[in-house]
Amino acid sequence: MKSELFKKVDAEKGNLFSLIQRLIQIKSYSGDEKEIVEYIVLRMKEFGFDEAYHDGFGNAIGKIGNGPIKIMYDAHIDTVKVTETENWIHPPFEGKIENGKLYGRGAVDEKPAMAGFMIACKVLKEIYGDDLPFTLYVVGSVLEEDADGYPLFHIIQNEGIRPDFVVLGEPTDLKVYRGQRGRMELKITTTGKSAHGAHNHKGINAIYKMQPVLEEIEKLDRRLKPKQPLGKGSITVSQIISKAPSLCSVSDYCQIHLDRRMTIGENKTTVVKELKEILKKYKIDAKVSIPNVEGLSWKGRKFCQEAYFPTWVYDEKHSIVDAAMKTSKAAIGKAKSGVWSFSTNGVATAGHFGIPTIGFAPSDEGLSHSSKEVLVLNDLLKATKFYSLFPFNILSGK
Ligand SMILES: [Zn+2]
Repeated sequence: MKSELFKKVDAEKGNLFSLIQRLIQIKSYSGDEKEIVEYIVLRMKEFGFDEAYHDGFGNAIGKIGNGPIKIMYDAHIDTVKVTETENWIHPPFEGKIENGKLYGRGAVDEKPAMAGFMIACKVLKEIYGDDLPFTLYVVGSVLEEDADGYPLFHIIQNEGIRPDFVVLGEPTDLKVYRGQRGRMELKITTTGKSAHGAHNHKGINAIYKMQPVLEEIEKLDRRLKPKQPLGKGSITVSQIISKAPSLCSVSDYCQIHLDRRMTIGENKTTVVKELKEILKKYKIDAKVSIPNVEGLSWKGRKFCQEAYFPTWVYDEKHSIVDAAMKTSKAAIGKAKSGVWSFSTNGVATAGHFGIPTIGFAPSDEGLSHSSKEVLVLNDLLKATKFYSLFPFNILSGK
């Protein structure tokens, strides 16, 4: 079976490379993915998918097979913007291929997986027709860069699809990634009493109230302990704003915005608690809150989500990791596990819903969002072999 699958994937090499080239050429910034979604749905139909459509949020969804075990392959197809200061070797939407490498925005994060998923399904349908022993969904999720997790949260919550296993196409450099640090955003607000600057003794300055909080947060960041394999969490003050009746007055409002990365054992409760302890220590009457992330998809669907994205990680002995390691060995001749430093749609599948999730894709995560995005095309061919075989190894591990 394995050799037949891989032979068929090899025979699709030309299709695979021209598909990923085309996906790079279609600009698809977050919130503006209509063209690429319609293109993907069209190609899925051509490739013989049993179903291909876009859902209520605007995600592209394809399905092959009808077996009892449901597997979801997800690649977000939105990208971050190209900024004026970025220096590209080749224009970011040209889809230039040179010496076996493809350059452009999304060549790392993370269009290659989408092309690999689609070709793997084409091959599976050609060999097995209507006799696939599993159900495989391929999702091209939208708006991930603005709202990690939300597109899959929507599918599970509102579209009636609940997979048993999930594979993410975020870059892993052909390793099996099995977790990531979580992240959340917080705000701390202090209030005071405004007064004329000439009579400042009559006021209470909200900025001064924030001062010890800032110092303690800096110390807290240094105190956070690493927990393997995810390493250490972090806390960063990303913004400070204040208000006063005028620039000649005592400020009566101060608010800081925090980015918090969470390792194993850190969650919403522990994070809020450690901040409240700082406030208690200095007897500061400040408010700690978690903001919402809001936005609009290309289909006009509004979303609103608390800015809390839970940590998740699976043990190397977990059946999904084991199946992925076996698949990697068969597809590329080696198997290594790892974790992401950044956040992925796994915050919804694994973090919120507890659905076993792993990642496997070409390219180095460190090149994401940079002008250095480049894909080694042969690595995508290897990943596509992985995608074609993985469902069978999940089944045999059950
Ligand atoms: Zn990504």
